[in-house]
Amino acid sequence: MSLDRSMLSVVVPVYNEEANLAEVRTRVTRMLDGVRFDGTEVLFVSDGSTDGSERMIAEFAREDRRLRGIFLTRNFGHQAAVSVGLERARGSVIAVIDGDLQDPPEHIPELIAALDAGADVAYGIRRKRKEPAFKRAGYWLFYRMLRMISTTDVPLDAGDYSCMTRRVVDAMKSLPETRRFVRGLRAWVGYRQVGVEYERDKRFAGEPKYTIRGLLRLAYDGIFAFSSVPVKLMQIIGFVAASGAALVGVAYLIISLVVATPRGFPTIVLSIWLLGGVQLFAFGLLGEYVFRAYEEARRRPSAMVREVVSLDG
Ligand code: UDP
Ligand code: MG
Repeated sequence: MSLDRSMLSVVVPVYNEEANLAEVRTRVTRMLDGVRFDGTEVLFVSDGSTDGSERMIAEFAREDRRLRGIFLTRNFGHQAAVSVGLERARGSVIAVIDGDLQDPPEHIPELIAALDAGADVAYGIRRKRKEPAFKRAGYWLFYRMLRMISTTDVPLDAGDYSCMTRRVVDAMKSLPETRRFVRGLRAWVGYRQVGVEYERDKRFAGEPKYTIRGLLRLAYDGIFAFSSVPVKLMQIIGFVAASGAALVGVAYLIISLVVATPRGFPTIVLSIWLLGGVQLFAFGLLGEYVFRAYEEARRRPSAMVREVVSLDG
């Protein structure tokens, strides 16, 4: 099956990026002029920008029918902005890039080439990040931790920068959860996914719009939407502490029958460990029910179907 080239959509989340937008427009439209698609569109999703971004986008939209603006009522966050863009994109192929030119638009054709070769998702893998060391270390640690604890294979060192086919975006849209960790949902829906390396540039202009708090929230959303490991850890640690204390208690009892041992003190220490362990374990069990209730509340389907082959269709 060859790639449907009826329309390429590029989704660009924008939060106060007035210093970048002119350059984004130039570089993205130049890229669009070079790709073989019947139609193209760029969706600038302004996430409650308070600077001149929306005025600029409105002007772009007046000058070029390929450029469209979607303005949110307030700042909902990067992931929400990307989700709205995916919701509204009409393309047969949909790309997502940041509005600060960290993901070079000129690289998108390489992602499209991967789709041409049969993939349904081509995501950028950051070979080098031109960002402060502490931020790089944070990202590095987060992605490795998430990989360790997640039931879905969220790819390493990959963000939302990607190209997807229509059926992948439709599959993501069919997941109704509100707190959307886009790169996780993208991994969750399956199909053939490939990573394509690229150099992540420095921000073209302006300050990063993600605060440390914002990044932590993103990390939390990723962990809680794709892992029950925190709850499992409580169960394991609680169980080990309680059963360890019980074993040591029994051993101590036997030893005290043979030799003289201190009285009272071991009882107190072991009771603390035993009860603490039992409580932690019980909380972990409770957490398991809460997690499962949360899983049901998210209403993700249990599986996705790619294809049905049979004589009567
Ligand atoms: N962004 C957004 N809403 C926000 C924060 C950021 O739409 O609340 C956009 C921002 O304009 C940019 C992209 O998300 O296009 C990535 O943001 P940023 O460059 O600050 O993140 P970083 O590259 O540092 O991860
Ligand atoms: Mg950035």
